[in-house]
Amino acid sequence: MAYDFDLFTIGAGSGGVRASRVAAGLGARVAIAEADRLGGTCVNVGCVPKKLMVYASELGHAFGDAAGFGWSVPSPPRFSWPDFLAAKDREIHRLNQVYGRLLHGAGCELLRGRARLVDAHTVEVEGEGGVTRHTADKILVATGGRPTRPTEPGTERAWVSDDVFSMRELPARMLVVGGGYIAVELACVFAGLGSKVTLAHRGALPLRGFDEDVRSFLVEQMRKAGVDVRLHTSIRCLEDGADGAICAVLPHAESLDVDAVLYAIGRSPNTEGLGLEALGVELDAQGAVVVDARYRTSVDNVYALGDVTNRLNLTPVAIEEGIVLAHHLFGEAGRAVDYDFVPTAVFSQPPLAAVGRTEHEVPGAHVYESEFRPLKHTLSGRDERSYMKLVVDPATDRVMGVHLVGADSAEIIQGFAVALRLGVTKAQLDATVGLHPTAAEELVTMRERRPDPAG
Ligand code: FAD
Ligand code: NDP
Repeated sequence: MAYDFDLFTIGAGSGGVRASRVAAGLGARVAIAEADRLGGTCVNVGCVPKKLMVYASELGHAFGDAAGFGWSVPSPPRFSWPDFLAAKDREIHRLNQVYGRLLHGAGCELLRGRARLVDAHTVEVEGEGGVTRHTADKILVATGGRPTRPTEPGTERAWVSDDVFSMRELPARMLVVGGGYIAVELACVFAGLGSKVTLAHRGALPLRGFDEDVRSFLVEQMRKAGVDVRLHTSIRCLEDGADGAICAVLPHAESLDVDAVLYAIGRSPNTEGLGLEALGVELDAQGAVVVDARYRTSVDNVYALGDVTNRLNLTPVAIEEGIVLAHHLFGEAGRAVDYDFVPTAVFSQPPLAAVGRTEHEVPGAHVYESEFRPLKHTLSGRDERSYMKLVVDPATDRVMGVHLVGADSAEIIQGFAVALRLGVTKAQLDATVGLHPTAAEELVTMRERRPDPAG
């Protein structure tokens, strides 16, 4: 049977765009449908605008640092959210266009509208011009995810992360609910921009899954930077507060009046309304598409990758999956995604970055650690410290984990991800000459082993 396309991709985000471009480059006839702006979450309401906000926010702290180095800065320095928003929107618009050109240049046919599967080889796209139907040999679901909305009473007035990228003004007082990447990053962003921020997390420490020592160290640094971090704190409901404020009702009859509440309590895969269940595509309990090692769903010619499969929800992972799938379908099948030693960073202030295993994941681990005041803050006067930790396999001396909190840690960790994948040992780190004066040199000069509590 002749189909209109060899591959039909639903979703022009990080994974869908890369899979489509690579497939087209390998000679496939490719169509890609997008219901919203090109580039998906990362470009429009994720990594990129978030990182631009982090830069804006870090500058807020830098003005405070400058006096220690001899600068005079007007006090207080003025920040214009509308000016920042306009600059950010211009850059995102430019990126949307770049994505369009990349797809066009690769020879992909872009269909604007919301797509759904009619059967295993037919996709319907509902766009401004009406509904069109297209057939394809293979279908790729790369529809990503969306912020999970809270259900507690009154929370319909709360924001989710998508909302902060277009809000009209900076709230003077803000409550951030959650303890994941987004809650921690955005709490720090708003604090740096001048809002009075409270972070309420239901658990003992934010950032579940990260090494416990870096989690508690980061909480200390965030508190020193002015974020009111409240742990074991769940929000019961939101009510009307005084003078138009929102009143968040906390446990033990406590309450908090704020100007905005942001819920960052996780993300849900975008699988609703796609026709997947009717087709027999298996979904897990969270609604994510279940795939095998080759991204194939329970329906033979239907594939899925990226956040919609809810595994390692990071942009470079979705991109790598897209490249591997395209080669598997239309080129050579040799390459596979290596999910081990994927580096990750939380763009908090200071940032946290990690690769590999936590201390608790390596039985009997040898642990090396260092905590210090960064050279810059000897003059800036900023009360911020850095922390570094190496987790080493006692049997092989192989470095199994690197965990950092401190300036530039996201930049430092990328190189260590390469070294850890290649099996670097602690002895090899020790034999490497450091680069002075940097924070990263600590990682090759950590000679002291934390005393083993067992003796
Ligand atoms: P997406 O990028 O979400 O793309 C899915 C696309 O499908 C969207 O454009 C959507 O509109 C479209 N779509 C959905 N349904 C349909 C339909 N029925 N028809 C047509 N189109 C449809 N990751 C990092 O690595 N580093 C970071 O710093 C980072 N920061 C983040 C910050 C925030 C606030 C958020 C929310 C996420 C962040 N992420 C970060 C995660 C990253 O954005 C995602 O992992 C990545 O975008 C996933 O790519 P994807 O292709 O799977 O899905
Ligand atoms: P996460 O899954 O990282 O964290 C969700 C947080 O919300 C957890 O702390 C969780 O607590 C808490 N939570 C869940 N449900 C509730 C509830 N009902 N009430 C109160 N708290 C709740 O989600 P995010 O939304 O922060 O981010 C989604 C994903 O996006 C990340 O996991 C990551 O993959 C990606 N991302 C990556 C970034 C980066 O690379 N820098 C930045 C931003 C996002 P508990 O731990 O107790 O379950």
